[in-house]
Amino acid sequence: MRFASLGSGSKGNCSVVASDSTSIMVDCGFSYKDVIARLERLDLEPDALAAIIVTHEHSDHVSGVEALSTRHAIPVYASRGTWIEIDANKYKFINLIDGLFSIGDISVTPIPVPHDAREPLQFVFGCSGKRLGILSDLGSISARVLKAFTELDAVSVEFNHDISLLQRGPYPSYLKTRISGDFGHLNNDQAAKLIELIASDRLHTVVACHISETNNDVALVNSALESVLKNREIEYRVASQSDGFNWISVERR
Ligand SMILES: [Zn+2]
Ligand SMILES: [Zn+2]
Repeated sequence: MRFASLGSGSKGNCSVVASDSTSIMVDCGFSYKDVIARLERLDLEPDALAAIIVTHEHSDHVSGVEALSTRHAIPVYASRGTWIEIDANKYKFINLIDGLFSIGDISVTPIPVPHDAREPLQFVFGCSGKRLGILSDLGSISARVLKAFTELDAVSVEFNHDISLLQRGPYPSYLKTRISGDFGHLNNDQAAKLIELIASDRLHTVVACHISETNNDVALVNSALESVLKNREIEYRVASQSDGFNWISVERR
């Protein structure tokens, strides 16, 4: 199994998880034209996608889902609450997430997360004994998240903001309250803490994603990652808004 991101941040999120035979997109917050160009960078045809899994209804995750799904007849998977919010009537290929499911040879475990959407989910993917976690858009570390995101080989975690940059930054106070709240987004310290709590002996790769361009700084993300990973054999990478990150293997190299 391997994974990549087409771009990550408040202006759009989209990642891909693939085995030798199955490719799954997770969210699509880019326009049709943009997502086709970004898929090309990963050498992936839209027609090769077996499914688009949607985490929640915020536009940075869903704005491109309908166009991509309709034009290429790709089934879309989302929770009941997400389908209500994005209006299932607009979609042709609807699948309801209601517990664990599989697409091709990849198993998908949905995990509810504390975030201010109707029924937001994040996911653990499994294939040939390997486990990959994708975890963004959560405001706090819940017991459920800690229980589900264990024994992973690789994980992508939201490092949304630095708390003091957010507080000093240009956002209106209601938005600062929302972002830093328990149903908003993880700050660098919370994300580092989360990694510390879920890091097992088999974890070899961590990716920091959904980094705010306004309220964070890559140097701060790197130092938060370093503080928690320095004595472990774990590689880390940072996902960008413009480029995401290139394919990363979930297999031990
Ligand atoms: Zn988001
Ligand atoms: Zn969100």
